[in-house]
Formats: sequence, C-alpha cells, structure tokens
Amino acid sequence: MIKFITLMPLMAQFKIYNNGEKKIMSLKFSVLASGSTGNAIYVATEKQRILVDAGLSGKAMEDLFKKIDCCPSALDAILVTHEHSDHIKGVGILARKYHIPVYANEKTWQAMDGHLGKISVDQKFVFGMEEIKGFGDIQVESFGVSHDAAEPMFYVFHHEGKKLSLITDTGYVSDRMKGTIKESDVYIFESNHDMNMLRMGKYPWSVKRRILSDVGHVSNEDAALALAEIVGTKSTRVYLAHLSKDNNMKDLANLTVKQTLEEQGLEVGDHLKLFDTDPVKPTELVAV
Ligand SMILES: [Zn+2]
Ligand SMILES: [Zn+2]
Repeated sequence: MIKFITLMPLMAQFKIYNNGEKKIMSLKFSVLASGSTGNAIYVATEKQRILVDAGLSGKAMEDLFKKIDCCPSALDAILVTHEHSDHIKGVGILARKYHIPVYANEKTWQAMDGHLGKISVDQKFVFGMEEIKGFGDIQVESFGVSHDAAEPMFYVFHHEGKKLSLITDTGYVSDRMKGTIKESDVYIFESNHDMNMLRMGKYPWSVKRRILSDVGHVSNEDAALALAEIVGTKSTRVYLAHLSKDNNMKDLANLTVKQTLEEQGLEVGDHLKLFDTDPVKPTELVAV
C-alpha cells in the first residue's frame, strides 16, 4: 500500500514529461508590438512568462495579450530596456494592476522616476548591465547598447540550449554586442529605417542627425550587415523590429535585409527566415 502511494506521483510526473517533452523544452515568444508607437515582447516557457517593455497604454497592452490568448496576470516579470516612452508607457499600469515585479538597471530606474506612477518597493528590482539572472527555467543576460537614454540595455534569453536575442534602439551594433548575441535561434532585431527614405524625408535635419548618429537607430542595411556576421549554422528566425513609420516600409525592410544578406553570402529561405513585426498586431506565438 505504501509503495503504491509513493509511486503514484512519480508515475504522474513521468507521464506528463513523456507526453509533453517538446512543450516543456520550448521557448515561446511573440513580438506583441514594435515601432516608435510602442514596444512589447513576450517570452515564455511552460513555467515562466516574461514581458520585455510595455510601451503602449495599459488597455492596449491588455488587448495585445488577448490576441495571443494570454493575460498580463500570468506574467512573472517585466524587464525594461530603457526609459523612452515607447518602451515604458504601460509598465506602471500593468505592474500595479497585476502586481508584477519590474526589473531595470539603476540609471534607468532613476530616469523613469516620475514617469511610471507609484510602484511599491517590493516590486522594484535592479537588473544590472551585463548581468545574468535566472527566472525559473530561463536565464536572462543583459547587454548595453548605444542609444540616447540613461543606460539602455537589451536582453538575451537562454532556455534548454535555445537562444533568443533582442536588440533594438541602438545607433550601431558593436563587436561586443555581436559577440553576445551571435548564433541565436531567434533575433528580434532593429531594422529602423531606409537610408534614402530618411535622407529624402520630411524630418528636420536635427532629427535625421539623431537617428543616423551612433546613439540613434539601426538602418535596414546595417541590420543585415550585422546579422551576416553573427547568424550561425542552425536554423534561424529573424524578426525585423522597431520600423520607423515615416522612413521605412515592411516590404522594403524585408527586401533590403534579404538582398544585403545574400550579397554577404547568406541565403534567405528555409534555414534563415525573415519575419515582419507590427506596431499593433502581435506576431504569431511560436515555439523554438
Ligand atoms: Zn524605441
Ligand atoms: Zn529608445
């Protein structure tokens, strides 16, 4: 009798593991929204659910979650990349309503002061630059980027040998950044503007200069040139992100990145796939 009782939980566990092995191993994600009107990226395993940035209103964030059949109440953490409003607009609202812990580096916390509303002390956590933190079965690595914010940083997610790298809002991709994000299974990668559209466009010169500067944003072509150096031999998904609504178009970004990668000797197809992101429509929730 005793034997029977002690065996039961073990058998149940084995069964779940056996049936759901692939599910348990996978890293799921969706780019909920991307662009200068608001950014939010969802990354999850069976055990952990993390949101990177919440750059839209609380209501808009809830609507985005509904579209992927999820709810912010399920989140274990919100990680903030930097204090620009297109990354933090909904952070305070979500954190208060669903009591979600928020992580950012110290300078970003200081810069966000007065922009999030009140967040209780027990929800505020420091995630330092170039630190690795465990969130259940996900290891998250932070790295610095070059952008006109207090201390902007992005994140690499590691889970069961899978690697997902997130990098937008940087003026250029340094060798150090390339070293951190190389050979990922998934890239959510800035492809902000088309050089010609930006040069010819209506923006005042001061704004153009800021975007083109070392602390601005990465162009379609520069995104592809950086990717060409870091894409590994395994199958890779690249999501072109943070597209400028005035100085870029999805098709143009896709075509420029594809052509530039091919000029660098990388074939875009089954092995290396390019995907669009959208300012208001989440990408399909997929698992790698
Ligand atoms: Zn941004
Ligand atoms: Zn920014």
